[in-house]
Amino acid sequence: MLDKNFRNGDAKTDTFGSNVMLQPSPVQTIPDGPTKPEIAYQMVKDETFAQTQPRLNLATFVTTYMDEYGTKLMNEAINVNYIDETEYPRIAYMNGKCINIVANLWNTPETDTWKTGAVAIGSSEACMLGGIAAWIRWRERRKAAGKPYDKPNFIISTGYQIVWEKFAQLWQIEMRTVPLSLEKTTLDPEAVIKMCDENTICVVPIQGVTWTGLNDDVEALDAALDEFNAKTGYDIPIHVDAATGGFILPFLDPDKKWDFRLKWVLSISTSGHKFGLVYPGLGWVVWKDKKYLPDVMSFSVNYLGAEIRQVGLNFSRPAAQILGQYYQFIRLGFQGYKEVQFNSLAICQYLHDEIAKIDAFVPYSKDVPNPLFAWLMKPEYQKTAKWTLYDLQDKLAQKGWMVPAYTMPADIEDIVVMRVVCKQGFSRDMADQLLADINFALGELNALEYPTTTRIAMEKNVPLQTKSFNHTGR
Ligand SMILES: *Cc1c(COP(=O)(O)O)cnc(C)c1O
Repeated sequence: MLDKNFRNGDAKTDTFGSNVMLQPSPVQTIPDGPTKPEIAYQMVKDETFAQTQPRLNLATFVTTYMDEYGTKLMNEAINVNYIDETEYPRIAYMNGKCINIVANLWNTPETDTWKTGAVAIGSSEACMLGGIAAWIRWRERRKAAGKPYDKPNFIISTGYQIVWEKFAQLWQIEMRTVPLSLEKTTLDPEAVIKMCDENTICVVPIQGVTWTGLNDDVEALDAALDEFNAKTGYDIPIHVDAATGGFILPFLDPDKKWDFRLKWVLSISTSGHKFGLVYPGLGWVVWKDKKYLPDVMSFSVNYLGAEIRQVGLNFSRPAAQILGQYYQFIRLGFQGYKEVQFNSLAICQYLHDEIAKIDAFVPYSKDVPNPLFAWLMKPEYQKTAKWTLYDLQDKLAQKGWMVPAYTMPADIEDIVVMRVVCKQGFSRDMADQLLADINFALGELNALEYPTTTRIAMEKNVPLQTKSFNHTGR
């Protein structure tokens, strides 16, 4: 037997020679005493060691690559709390400049020096703020007219991101959903109008639907609402959830009207940490004008040394992302953003076309307006295949790639698709490597003699115990 007490455990003991490395990591209670920082670092680092490399994570929309200077700037600002505006006034100023730049990318008509918007932790908080503002504006109008204001609703397609379900449940606002189908792949304005009534606080079209990458037609929706509002006097506005598209459309499709150029678009949100090209978490929300941001949403805080006004659900939040965003604006400029987004989209379109050539697959849609797309197994192929896209997901994970397979939302939930998001840091060469790995995996899967467990489950119509991919959230 080994003598367990031989160890001195002094400073010369190697990390992996330490007693701590023989112990399980704490799960329930805080350890009694301290551990050397080298060892603590190693334990924490190693717990995440076997995970995918972020840049091979094609499931996420969120930035996995920034250049050295951007990374350095953000790391250096890690100890700065954004909310301490009095202590760090330049950060508040920089934040205002970022809001201005984003608002102008979206063609705000506001002419004041400081445009109306707010920083957020991501699109989720930004969507919440846009939704809440619409709700409060509607409520004020109803109150003023002496009408009940206890049954608010909003309208969105079934391709909504989970934040809208949170918005509905946390604030008790009814969510009315317009179904998507293989024929109607985006929000149908006519169906929206049929759902509108005097209690509708807003309609939420999406630019870069999380499930499919497609854009709802905001211009057509705006026209339909304009006619409906003229007839009814309801004044139902639009909040655009542009988590992805907000940083794609201004650069790659500047003539397309989806933003503040449209009459009923009163607020827009986006994720700075998606195609804003900043590490998480960062979001932006902008209103068309001050008058659309209800006063009750900006709170004054006077105990930080001066009176400041704040719009947001969080209080403390990291300032590093704001530095990262402002850095990217200066570093890349309009031209640089356009170049990076162009490459992401071109590589995505290439991958889309190559996937379409593979016998087993068919892309969910022909168009690739944003740098992501989904594909499914051809129905005729599915009849005889001994495997499913979940098996392909597993095979690719063995090579380090994260490519999620998932079922579509309500009404088309029996369709299994696979999706890739092509971001900065994913090159044409990497796309070729992925294609080679897909073809290799297909060779193995097609040679199977017996069906896989997921295939058997699918045949029996058993709900699949699939990997916990948060495809809707990322
Ligand atoms: C990602 C996403 C969100 C949520 O954004 P976070 O930045 O992750 O909070 C909301 N809506 C859409 C359409 C998205 O793609």
